[in-house]
Amino acid sequence: MRRPAANSVIRPDFKFEDMGIGGLDKEFSDIFRRAFASRIVPPGLAEKIGIQHVRGILLFGPPGTGKTLIARQIGKMLNAREPKVINGPEVLNKYVGQSEENIRKMFADAEKEQKERGDESDLHIIIFDELDAVCKQRGSTGGGTGVGDSVVNQLLSKLDGVEQLNNILLIGMTNRKDMIDEALLRPGRLEVHMEISLPDEHGRQQILKIHTNKMRTNGTMAPDVDLPELARLTRNFSGAEIQGLVKDASSWALQRHIKAGTMAALSDDVVNMKIRMEDFMRALDEVHPLFGANDEDLE
Ligand code: ATP
Repeated sequence: MRRPAANSVIRPDFKFEDMGIGGLDKEFSDIFRRAFASRIVPPGLAEKIGIQHVRGILLFGPPGTGKTLIARQIGKMLNAREPKVINGPEVLNKYVGQSEENIRKMFADAEKEQKERGDESDLHIIIFDELDAVCKQRGSTGGGTGVGDSVVNQLLSKLDGVEQLNNILLIGMTNRKDMIDEALLRPGRLEVHMEISLPDEHGRQQILKIHTNKMRTNGTMAPDVDLPELARLTRNFSGAEIQGLVKDASSWALQRHIKAGTMAALSDDVVNMKIRMEDFMRALDEVHPLFGANDEDLE
């Protein structure tokens, strides 16, 4: 008989502000409350008051909005093992039976690791990225091998398993919730659904702050860089695209140094490179949002 799950503990040194997540305060606290809070209740008490753990959650929304980031940071906050990340298309295998075997193995590995550590109380997170690639509505695999169907069945049997997945939490991620087989989204399976959307202006400013943090503290950022203005100019950008914008702006600043022949003066401890607002404006000509434009309201 498996021991009941012990409780996770929130690391006392963890603060939301230090997590490097911009503009998703509400989403973070909702996901924590709905899917993780039960895990900090002592098991005896949880049993007494009938609290049951959520077995799986689905995070959906456009690419690069921080779904993986949130999942990893909540795991860290609860001192969980580094999550296993499985990519949907990678699980698919042309050999009959191999895809189901891949799923079975991913759960078996998680269980084995817990036993090897001798502590089955550790929370173990499995992130299933691009879930839609394998878990399409069954029967919709369109003349293919039906591999998707059997992968869904294998996942369902793992989530419904007779053995409680006490300390394993499956987090599915997708850009296409409408493509996911509904059977997977029922209670007891991927039961908590949370949308992570593109950031609003306030969120974009937070994300810009996070990704320019080092430059601001070590003096690499020129005083004319106006983050509120950049937040206004980056409508429809995802967090990942904002990160890309900062990288691109840095490349313009570096190019200026290379041209001026001042690269040699840069060393690990001499920071005389400056990234300016003009570098960001050039970057804005080069880096564009996947959806819509930076001056367009999406429906
Ligand atoms: P996908 O759907 O493509 O898997 P995702 O939603 O899981 O994307 P992440 O992988 O979490 O997106 O984001 C990629 C990177 O973009 C992060 O590692 C981080 O550097 C940056 N990023 C995205 N969103 C945010 C955010 N809200 N705050 C800070 N950084 C962010």
